[in-house]
Amino acid sequence: MSAARQVDVAIIGAGPAGLAAGAAARNEGAERVVVFERDWEPGGILQQCIHPGFGLHTFGEELTGPEYAHRYLTRVREAGVEFSLNTMVFQMDKPVLKDGRKTVTFWTMQPERGIEQIEAKSLVLAMGCRERPAGALGVAGSRPSGVYTAGTAQRFVNMEGFMPGTKVVIMGTGDIGLIMARRMLLEGAEVVGVFEIMPWVSGLRRNIAQCLDDFGIPYYLNHSVCELRGRGRLEGVGVVEVGPDRQPIPGSDKFVTCDTLLLAVGLIPENELSRMAGIAIEPITGGPIVNEWMQTSEDCVFAAGNVVVVYDLVDFVSREGERAGKYAARYAMGRLENAKREFKIVPENNVRVVSPQTLTGEDDVTVYLRVGSPVESKCRLYAEPGLFSQRLRYARPGEMNEIKLSASQLKSLASDVTRITVGLEVL
Ligand SMILES: Cc1cc2nc3c(=O)[nH]c(=O)nc-3n(C[C@H](O)[C@H](O)[C@H](O)COP(=O)(O)OP(=O)(O)OC[C@H]3O[C@@H](n4cnc5c(N)ncnc54)[C@H](O)[C@@H]3O)c2cc1C
Repeated sequence: MSAARQVDVAIIGAGPAGLAAGAAARNEGAERVVVFERDWEPGGILQQCIHPGFGLHTFGEELTGPEYAHRYLTRVREAGVEFSLNTMVFQMDKPVLKDGRKTVTFWTMQPERGIEQIEAKSLVLAMGCRERPAGALGVAGSRPSGVYTAGTAQRFVNMEGFMPGTKVVIMGTGDIGLIMARRMLLEGAEVVGVFEIMPWVSGLRRNIAQCLDDFGIPYYLNHSVCELRGRGRLEGVGVVEVGPDRQPIPGSDKFVTCDTLLLAVGLIPENELSRMAGIAIEPITGGPIVNEWMQTSEDCVFAAGNVVVVYDLVDFVSREGERAGKYAARYAMGRLENAKREFKIVPENNVRVVSPQTLTGEDDVTVYLRVGSPVESKCRLYAEPGLFSQRLRYARPGEMNEIKLSASQLKSLASDVTRITVGLEVL
C-alpha cells in the first residue's frame, strides 16, 4: 500500500453536520479540508426529505431538505472544501502521538482509488444516525417482504420513484414515520393507522397535526404491532393494546390487513468507527461524549450532528457542525490549547439526554436536552448553581430544549465547582 494521504482536517459524512464543519474549518484557516462521503452526492439524509420545514432558524425561511443542502453546498464550495465522494470510511485507528501531537489514521474504499490510508491532523465525525431495524424489535411471526424502515421507504418514494406498497401500517410515532404516513397517502396508498407503544407521541406534535390529523389518518397510543403474517409478501399484522407496564392486555389483540409495514421506532447514532478509534461513548445518547468545542475523549477528534445526539431540527445540526469544524481547524493548526477546567453536566429531574456533556468554560455554549417523559403543565428548566432558569408551558421528549450559558458565567464559578446540574421542576 502507498504512503498515507495527508490532510489537515478530515470530515466523515457530507450531511448537514459535515458540510457545516467543512466550511467552518476552511473559514477558520485550515489548509486542506476534505469531506469523505460514501454516497455519490453530498447532502446526507436531506436529499430524501422533500417536505418543507428546514432552515427557519438558519435562513429565516422554510426550505425543503434538498434546498437547505444546496444553500450549504454553495457555502462549502466557495470556502474551498474538497470532497471525496463514493468513498466509504471502513476502519479507523486509535489516535497516536506523532511529533509531539496526536494524529488520526483511517482507511477508505473508493471504486477508482481502491483502498487508501488517510492521515489527518484532526477529524470531525459526522456520520449521522441510522434507523432501528425490524431485527432489533423481535416481532413474532413470519418474515415476509413488505417490512421497511420509514427512511428506506422515504428514499424509495422520494428519490428512486418506487412505491413500497398499497395498504400501509406504521409502527412508532417517530417524525420520519409521521411524514411518510402523509407521503404514502399523497402517493395513492391507503394508510390504515399508526401504532405507538408509549402513551405519548415520540415525534413533534406539529407532525401529528400536519401529517395525520389533517389527512384523517388514525393513530393509537399504548398500542404495538406484535405479529407479522404472510407468506412471501406481508398480508397483515397483529396489533395489541398495552398496559402501563407496556405488556399486552389479554384479549385486546386484533388483526389488521396490510401489505406494508413501515417502522419509525428510533434512530441510533452511527458510531462503529468512533468505537474503533477508542472514543468514549455516552450510553444514553449512544454518541461520543463531547465538550462545547465538540471535542471527544481523543483531543484530535471532534464530532457533530446526529452522530452525537439525535437532534429534532437540522438548524441545530448545522450550528454544532460549524462549532466542530472551527475547533478541529484550530487543533490542526496548533491553535487549540488544552482546557484549564472541566465541568461535568449532570442531568436530573426528568432530563434524560444532554449534549454536550462536559464544558471547558472557555466559550459561550448552548446545552441541548430532552426530557424522558412529557410534562404537560407549567415547569421550570434550570442549570445549577444559579446559571439558568426558564419557565416553560410544557416539555416533551420529541422536542429539544436549549440552555444558553456564557463563558463569563462559567468563569465566575468558584474553583471547587466541577458539576453543573440541569433539570426540570414541575411548578
Ligand atoms: C432515515 C432518516 C430520515 C430523516 N428524515 C428527516 C425528515 O424528514 N425531517 C427532518 O427534519 N429530519 C429528518 N431526519 C433527521 C436528520 O437526520 C437530521 O436533521 C440531519 O440530516 C442530520 O445530519 P447529519 O449530518 O448529522 O447526518 P446525515 O444527514 O445522516 O449525514 C451523515 C452522512 O454521513 C455519511 N456516512 C456515514 N457513515 C459513513 C462512512 N463510514 N463513510 C463515509 N460516509 C459515511 C452518510 O452517507 C451521510 O451522507 C432523518 C433522519 C434519518 C436517519
